[in-house]
Amino acid sequence: QRETENQTRYQPAILTDGHRVEIVANIGKAAEAAAAVEAGAEGIGLLRTEFLFLDRESAPTEDEQYAAYTEMIRALNGLPLIIRTLDIGGDKVLPYHPLAKEDNPFLGVRGIRLCLREPDLFLPQLRAIYRASQNGPVKIMFPMIATLEDWHAACEVAEKVRLEIGADPVDMGIMIEVPSAVLMAAEFAKEVDFFSIGTNDLTQYTLAMDRMHPALAKNVDGLHPAVLRLIDQTVRAATKENKWVGVCGGVAGDPLGALILTGLGVTELSMSLPSIAAVKARLRTTSKAKTQSLAQKALTLSTASEVRALA
Ligand code: PEP
Ligand code: MG
Repeated sequence: QRETENQTRYQPAILTDGHRVEIVANIGKAAEAAAAVEAGAEGIGLLRTEFLFLDRESAPTEDEQYAAYTEMIRALNGLPLIIRTLDIGGDKVLPYHPLAKEDNPFLGVRGIRLCLREPDLFLPQLRAIYRASQNGPVKIMFPMIATLEDWHAACEVAEKVRLEIGADPVDMGIMIEVPSAVLMAAEFAKEVDFFSIGTNDLTQYTLAMDRMHPALAKNVDGLHPAVLRLIDQTVRAATKENKWVGVCGGVAGDPLGALILTGLGVTELSMSLPSIAAVKARLRTTSKAKTQSLAQKALTLSTASEVRALA
């Protein structure tokens, strides 16, 4: 079975009735773009740019970032690249950029909140992204968006940078990983080009369970019906505005998760490289209608273990 998965990894994930799911990769380093294509990815659904900033003595300069993004664009050879702006804070800290001590870092100045307060980090990154976008298909995605104000403020900064550089507009999307963003998804959907659901944080914030907490680990499950209902709500809001929804959290790379997400109407699944071949193979064994009934069933269940039992 492994062997056939491996042989068919370059083929798209087309269900038995012809429905196609886009399978893309999560990466963190420039060299991983080529590896993602090699693993069968049809693009990059999440570039975690914080990895370009970690394990260094200073932040990468605009030119260094431009070179890294351009290396990925070249390796992708026309396949899409979604660049998430710096998502630092929470569990990720930069040794050369001390953050104020916080009692609750995951509820603190994290992700877009940090970038909006630190133009020295945000502006060079946006400049590098817009410059690189002239070399191939790039989309920009903001992490940890909790309010419309976050989104408007981020867009305002990005648009200013874009105009200074004279770059063409690119698609702009947000991570859906905070419950408030789901509850306001109808409003966001009118303005964004796409949503990408971060089930790791969405699960953490919905269940109020630290995603890193060893004692809670087995209960922090992105297939919990509470999370699935939020995903359903997000897809419905996006569909009304003809916007597409991806998932880039761990649920996308889980074969049962991939089926349920497809049934909920998610059209792009972004996952770590080792999951790609198996998820594609699993999707090919079923139809859109079957994933829809599986998803509808999952939405009626009461616990994550009942959802897991559908496998
Ligand atoms: C997520 O929260 O699901 C996500 C994809 O982002 P990260 O894991 O980098 O927080
Ligand atoms: Mg996240």
